[in-house]
Amino acid sequence: MVLIGKLNLNRKSLIVALTGAGVSAESGVPIFRGRGSMWENETARNLAGKSGPPWNTRGTWEFYEWRRELVSRCEPNAAHLTLVEMEDFFYNFYLITQNVDGLHHRAGSRKVLELHGNMWKGRCPRDGEIVDLPKTPLETIPPIHSCGEALRPHVVQFGEPLEQKTLEAALDLSRRAELFLVIGTSGVVSPARDLPLLARKSGAVVIEVNREPTVLTPYVTLSIRGMAAEILPKLWEDLKKTIN
Ligand SMILES: [Zn+2]
Repeated sequence: MVLIGKLNLNRKSLIVALTGAGVSAESGVPIFRGRGSMWENETARNLAGKSGPPWNTRGTWEFYEWRRELVSRCEPNAAHLTLVEMEDFFYNFYLITQNVDGLHHRAGSRKVLELHGNMWKGRCPRDGEIVDLPKTPLETIPPIHSCGEALRPHVVQFGEPLEQKTLEAALDLSRRAELFLVIGTSGVVSPARDLPLLARKSGAVVIEVNREPTVLTPYVTLSIRGMAAEILPKLWEDLKKTIN
C-alpha cells in the first residue's frame, strides 16, 4: 500500500480509531441500521415500541435487557483485538466509538471515548450519577439508584445531544491525529461524519475500512472494502512495518 509507505509514524504518534456498528455487527450484536438490523426481529420492534422518554421506565429497560442479554453472548472479534494491540503499541492511541455494547472494554481497550454511552451503565435522572450495571438479568426493572430514583440507560437516545465533554475530547483528538482510522461506520450519523473530515482537513492520513463505500469514501486518503475483522489485522501488520 503506497499511501501507508508515506506515513511517518513512530510509537509516540497520535493515532485515533473511530468505530461504528459494523464492528459490532461482525460480533453478532443487533444493530440499528442497514442489512440485518434488529428491526427485522419482531420481538425487538415490540420492545422498542414500549421504550421511550423519560427513559427510566420499565418498558425502556425491558428493551435494553433484551439487547444486553444478546450482547452478553457475543464476543469481541479480531477487529476489537487488533485495536487493543495498537493501543498497547502506541503511547498515544485513542479509540472513539459509536457503539454502546461495551465490547471494546471487554476486548481490553482502555482509552475509549464512547460517543453514545454504554448499555452496561445506568444514569440517575435526579442527580446525574453514573452507575455500573454489569449483570443481566437486572435484579429489578427498572434498576433503582441509591437515592431512590429509577435509573435510565447511560445511552444517548435519538434526538438527545451527545455529552459535551466527550464530544470536545473527540474533536480535539481528531484535530491532532496523525493517522485516523474509520472502521465500520457509515458516516451518516453526526459527529461520526465530522470527525474523520476534521482529521483529514487537519492533515491526518485517514483510512476507512468498510464493507461498502460510504459518504466519507470520497474524502478519505484510502478506503478499503471488507470485513473489519479481516482487514484490520492485515492493515496493522502492514502499518507496523513502516514504524520507526
Ligand atoms: Zn440518584
